[in-house]
Amino acid sequence: MKGNFRLKVWIIAIIVLGSVNFIQAQNLTIIYGNDMAARNSIATFQYNNVRYISIDDFAEIFNTHIYHNKQNKKTILYLNNSVVKITAFNPFIIVDQQAFQMPAESIYLNDRVLVPVNYFIGIIEQIIPNQIVFNKSRDELVIYPLATNNVSKIEIEDKANGTLIRILTTQNFTDSNLSLRAGQGWLYLDIYGGKIDSSSLYAQFKQGIISKVVASQISNELAQIGFQLRDIIIEKNLLLQSSNEILISIKTKKDFSAEITKVLEREKQKWLIDRIVIDPGHGGKDPGAIGRYGTREKDVVLSIARYLKELFEEELNIEVLMTREDDRFVELRHRTEFANRNQAKLFISIHANANYNRKMRGVSTYFLGPGKTEEAREVATLENSVIRMENESRYADLSQENFILSAMAQNVYMKESQELADMVQREISRTCGLRDIGVLQAGFYVLWGASMPNILIETGFISNPDEEKLLRSRSFQQKQASAIFRSVKQFIEKFESGI
Ligand SMILES: [Zn+2]
Repeated sequence: MKGNFRLKVWIIAIIVLGSVNFIQAQNLTIIYGNDMAARNSIATFQYNNVRYISIDDFAEIFNTHIYHNKQNKKTILYLNNSVVKITAFNPFIIVDQQAFQMPAESIYLNDRVLVPVNYFIGIIEQIIPNQIVFNKSRDELVIYPLATNNVSKIEIEDKANGTLIRILTTQNFTDSNLSLRAGQGWLYLDIYGGKIDSSSLYAQFKQGIISKVVASQISNELAQIGFQLRDIIIEKNLLLQSSNEILISIKTKKDFSAEITKVLEREKQKWLIDRIVIDPGHGGKDPGAIGRYGTREKDVVLSIARYLKELFEEELNIEVLMTREDDRFVELRHRTEFANRNQAKLFISIHANANYNRKMRGVSTYFLGPGKTEEAREVATLENSVIRMENESRYADLSQENFILSAMAQNVYMKESQELADMVQREISRTCGLRDIGVLQAGFYVLWGASMPNILIETGFISNPDEEKLLRSRSFQQKQASAIFRSVKQFIEKFESGI
């Protein structure tokens, strides 16, 4: 009906113009590709042996808008994302920034710009190749609905720690336009207001988590993209990356187990006991305790420490650092600082005991804590006394009350330290034939602030003549070193198996 009415208008226009060269030609049949039953036609005109159509009619069948400038006899046609400018009596058509020259000019009639059909459609076919086909032999123009597709491309990237899906759009979507859900081996993205070309977005993949991409226009308002998955999704995230990009990141069971394994492996590496600090007590101007036969604590403990170091390096792949390698003075606080700075995983301080009562004998092992017995406090006082040779003000007040307040917070490795002390004490007393005084806790400056399990071993009483003899003998020193080594090794195995 509408076509007939349009035809009448044109006939009147031609009569009014009275142009002999301008005659009506056969209507051009319009077929809609998505609905073969729907047909339409537009009027065409012959002028100087060239067949014309009006831009207005063309816009109407395409359901797109145009803009007229009567003064310049110019029409602008909006096609998809392209702007097509046609000026009457001008052979050039400007598409965006590009000029196309037609062999014949467009003309102007009744406030309308008319273009040569063949040339004009030829240009339009280049702009929207999938939406228009001019079948010249049947004089039919086949039109596919003007794609207002706003979802243009899907890219999938398999990353080491997940899969990234990039959806490129030609329109801004907001979070409220999008919904992501997973189920039954599929991940679905619903895009409200999305227009999608199902056929061009379909894809299959031989590798990766995603095996297939299926896009569908569910309704006029809803486009859906389905991703078929080879693994179970554990985590999915939707992100509007930029105005024209929707990002989906997914992590599957596989990614997660790989990732967790990696994190655990890294954590484990951090905890592995790969470096220890051995601290031979005293040194230099501080001889430590001195026995009746002139045996100095500093010499005995350095010797035991050297044997111990050798055992660790020979039998285990563990780096051993010593707070002193020779007879030199090292301040107490520098000993734990040294261990902390080197990120050692264990701190073992080696000493020999002394008492005014020369009958006192036996081996004991200490960890840092408020001294619970007079005996333990005495030992700590003795070992701490060296700070008189240092700048005492640098040391915290380790008096009982103060200690209880701060020691727990200070020594987060108390449990491990106690465990290590237990093992060392058991092994030395068992294999060296010494009296087992036991594991005790007390406030030793040399252990204060160590950020690793730490213990102090009192290998025997240098003030006891019998034990002094033992302590100065190389074989006994080696025996002690190997007892400490075995027990520390046992601790390391237990500790690392629990990581
Ligand atoms: Zn000592």
